[in-house]
Amino acid sequence: MLAPGSTIGILGGGQLGRMLAVAAAQLGYQVHSYAPERESVAAQVAAHHIHAAWDDEPRLAAFAAACDAVTIEFENVPVDTVRFLSGHVSVRPGAQALEIAQDRLIEKQFVAGLGGRPATFASVPDRAALDAALAGIGAPAILKTLRMGYDGKGQARLTTPADADTAWETIDRHAAILEGFVTFAHEFSVLLVRGIDGETRFWDCSVNVHKDGILATSTLPPPQIILDQQDEARALMARIADDLDYVGVLTGEFFATDDGPIFNEMAPRVHNSGHWTIEGAVTSQFENHIRAVAGLPLGSTATTALPVTMRNLIGTDIATVPALLADGACHVHHYGKTDVRAGRKLGHATWVGTNPA
Ligand code: AMP
Repeated sequence: MLAPGSTIGILGGGQLGRMLAVAAAQLGYQVHSYAPERESVAAQVAAHHIHAAWDDEPRLAAFAAACDAVTIEFENVPVDTVRFLSGHVSVRPGAQALEIAQDRLIEKQFVAGLGGRPATFASVPDRAALDAALAGIGAPAILKTLRMGYDGKGQARLTTPADADTAWETIDRHAAILEGFVTFAHEFSVLLVRGIDGETRFWDCSVNVHKDGILATSTLPPPQIILDQQDEARALMARIADDLDYVGVLTGEFFATDDGPIFNEMAPRVHNSGHWTIEGAVTSQFENHIRAVAGLPLGSTATTALPVTMRNLIGTDIATVPALLADGACHVHHYGKTDVRAGRKLGHATWVGTNPA
C-alpha cells in the first residue's frame, strides 16, 4: 500500500493522465508524468514532468527512481519501455496487457482463446492476403491496421470487394486485419477495476454512440438488449483480467447483436466511455484506478443517480462551454488543450440525475 505523499508515475500526457493525476492528488499522492509530446495536458496538473522519448533509457531510469509505482494512460507506450521500467519499479498494468492490446490480431486470438466472440477476422499482412480474406469473409467488411489504430483512425470500410485497392491505400498499406461487418443494435462498454488482491468490481454499462469512429456520447441506463447481454460480456472481461493478473481499470468494447455480445476491442486503461463515473458513480474510474495501483481498498462503483449522459466536446464543440456552464446542472471538463482541431477531444460534459437541456 503506497503511503500518502508517495509518487505515482503516469506514462502518457493526455487528458486521461490529467484526470488520473487529479484523482491521485485527492488521495494524497504526487504525480510524475512522462510523455514524449511537447504539449502535455497531464503535466499541467502533475507535480513533476519529464519530456523525453520512449526509448531514452537514462531519463526512464531517472523517472523510475523518482516513482513508487507507475501506470499508463496510453496503450501504445512501447512494450520495451514498460519492460525496462519494470526492472526498476512496479508498473501496473504490466507489459503483457499492453502487448495484447497493441496488436489487433494478437488481441482477437487471445480473447477468442478465453471464450470471447470477436467479429470474424483474417490476417492481412499484404495486398494479396486482402483478396484471400475478402473471399473468406465477404463484404461489407472493415480493414483495420494491426497497430496504432484509435478513434476510427487506420480503418477503411469495404462495401464490395471492388473497394479493396482503395481500402488498402487508405490504411497506407500497413499490416492489417479484415473484420466482417457486424450488424449491431447498440455499442456498449464493460468497465472494470481489479485490485492487487484480485478483487474485481464493475461499473454499470453505458450505451455508446460513435460519430465518424469517435465516441460522441455515453448514456445510462442503456437499452434492455445491453442489460440482457452485460453479464456475458462482464464474465469475459473478468476472465481476461484474471488471466493477465491485471491491476487497474480495464475496458472492453462490445457490440450488442441478435447473437449476443460481440467483442470489439479492449483498452488496458481508463476509458472515454467511463468519464461519466466522475460525477455519476460513488467512485470514479480514475480514483479506483489509482486505488488499485496504490494497493488501496477499491471504492464502490455504484451509479449515484439516473439518467446519466456524457457528451464529448470535440473540435469546435468546445465553443459551447459557456452555454454548458450556464446550464447549472452540467459538469464541464475542459482538458486545457489550446490547439482546436477537428476530431480532437478537447473536453466533455456530464449530466447526472437529469437529461441534457
Ligand atoms: P474501433 O477503432 O475498432 O473501436 O472501431 C471504431 C468504430 O467503428 C466502432 O466503435 C464501431 O462503431 C465501428 N466498427 C468497428 N468495427 C466494426 C465491425 N466489425 N462491424 C461494424 N462496425 C464496426
